[in-house]
Amino acid sequence: MQNLESITELLEEIERNCDPKTLKKLNLSMTKRVATRLDEYSESCEACGKMLSELETNLQGYVDAFQSNEPVNILEHRNVRKGFIDHLAKIHKLLQDDHFVSTYMALGLSLGLIFGMVLFDNLAMGMMLGLVLGIAIGSGKDADAKKKGKTI
Ligand SMILES: [Zn+2]
Repeated sequence: MQNLESITELLEEIERNCDPKTLKKLNLSMTKRVATRLDEYSESCEACGKMLSELETNLQGYVDAFQSNEPVNILEHRNVRKGFIDHLAKIHKLLQDDHFVSTYMALGLSLGLIFGMVLFDNLAMGMMLGLVLGIAIGSGKDADAKKKGKTI
């Protein structure tokens, strides 16, 4: 719990120190959700507890750098976070927000390509249809996963 509180404070500090463009790329609300999940699992999962402290150290590093005016590559944070997301996905079966949309979009696109060629003799139309269908099915599944609390 302590980690989570200090992480929230660190995130606010980073928000104050970054320009909007960087913040958009960073997507700190994702970090916040990851931290909340790690905190939830930290009692039963040792790895999550460790990662929660790692996250705190990582964020603290950026805040320290801001304070001493050192140059810092804050976008590197996304790579650090990726490792935590992978753990949450693999071990705790949580999905990223857009997990199904991205999966079904890719699937729709490749199926659309094939059907577009075979059925309509029109590649572009097939891909278009596949894409639209993929997004429709994917968003439905994403919404469902979110409702069941299975997303990060
Ligand atoms: Zn864990």
